Amino acid sequence: MAPVIKDSRELEIMRQAGRIAAEALYRVGEMVRPGISTLELDREAERIIRSRGATCEFNGYHGFPANVCASRNEEVVHGIPNEDTILEEGDIIGIDVGARYQGYVGDNARTFAVGSISAECQDLLAATELCLTLAIETIGPGVKVWEVSRAVQEQAEIGGYGIVREYAGHGIGARMHEDPQVPNYVDSGPKGGSVTLRPGMVICVEPMLNIGTAEVRVLPDNWTVVTRDGKPSAHFEHMIAITGDGAEVLTRYSSEETAVG
Ligand code: MG
Repeated sequence: MAPVIKDSRELEIMRQAGRIAAEALYRVGEMVRPGISTLELDREAERIIRSRGATCEFNGYHGFPANVCASRNEEVVHGIPNEDTILEEGDIIGIDVGARYQGYVGDNARTFAVGSISAECQDLLAATELCLTLAIETIGPGVKVWEVSRAVQEQAEIGGYGIVREYAGHGIGARMHEDPQVPNYVDSGPKGGSVTLRPGMVICVEPMLNIGTAEVRVLPDNWTVVTRDGKPSAHFEHMIAITGDGAEVLTRYSSEETAVG
């Protein structure tokens, strides 16, 4: 299917959906500390999202049984929040939040340090976020999707990280996953990378980097994706609108912004 072009009304709603998802992610990030369970993080995200008049997009999505994804250490993505998963000093925890507001979806993710973490994990987090930043800098009208993918891949390879290939960024709008796919590497085949970005398209870019092998597998819960070698993995994601002359990140939030309630 061709990517959906959003009009200004839709973009304004997506701005609000993105802001709600970003606020929930930010607030949950502030709660991350040793001793907290991933279920507590899930509940707080749900509370914030609902208080803003939105719903938790992940809950029930293909049967997903929670409000956010919480993926710790060797878990790459799609970890299921759980009262028995208690964060410990030195862990890293990836949180992915999706909110649906007035018919449109906001989606973003970030990996947080739990207390003080190893230098190796600090580097992983910084590298993954840098991949996302550099990818966003390439985005604008007339740019091919593969150019965005290449920005992620080149930076990841500088650090020698494994790039997860089974999961990718995506177009987003009234549905969480729309065309085009936005892979984190440049594929040799004629896949989604040939799509040209145009004003009004909205995409999610979400690099997933592993300290070791790029290979992953899915746990018997049928959701949690883990690295095959058990080494840590990080995941950062923003939702970005293509504008007339560049890009607008729709999922930024910081404590300096006015918080209501
Ligand atoms: Mg996504």
